[in-house]
Amino acid sequence: MSDIKIVDAPPGVEGAGFFATTVDKVIGMGRSYSLWPLPFATSCCGIEFMATMSPHYDLARFGAERLSFSPRQADLLMVMGTISKKMGPVLRQVYIQMAEPRWVLSMGACACSGGIFDTYSVLQGIDEIIPVDVYIPGCPPRPEAVIEGFMQIQKLVQTESLRRRDTPEYQKLLASYGIQ
Ligand code: SF4
Repeated sequence: MSDIKIVDAPPGVEGAGFFATTVDKVIGMGRSYSLWPLPFATSCCGIEFMATMSPHYDLARFGAERLSFSPRQADLLMVMGTISKKMGPVLRQVYIQMAEPRWVLSMGACACSGGIFDTYSVLQGIDEIIPVDVYIPGCPPRPEAVIEGFMQIQKLVQTESLRRRDTPEYQKLLASYGIQ
């Protein structure tokens, strides 16, 4: 007997021989299952991410196996590890070089809040310099937590309006970070 479960069709208008939905939903679904992550890994959380990419956890199942080390060809910035204040401008530059739409995942206590490194040299959370969409707690978070965080990003991508990036609220958010 097969373990495969057939899920219900997404919300839309159904009838014999047709299924109607909205462009937003189709594009959101396509984007969410073809995210290209840019792993910005500076320390131990990066190793945990490698485990998440490995065959056992297999992030490729979510359509995200194509990692990008070029900001121009990435739409999900995954920040993992301690970000020193010297590294801050580099991270910000990478974010600015990414084209819209772009999302940011902050993985682990260090990226989210500076973690145990409450010192003069460490940024106390990357949201001091760039906007963050999803935070993953833990030191380090287990691969299951990384997958959960990634799925939260997928939900955001699926439900985000195509026009969100043009809204005054979004422009205001970027302006609050001094980003055009
Ligand atoms: S949160 Fe913990 S595991 Fe992750 S980079 Fe910081 S010290 Fe390392």
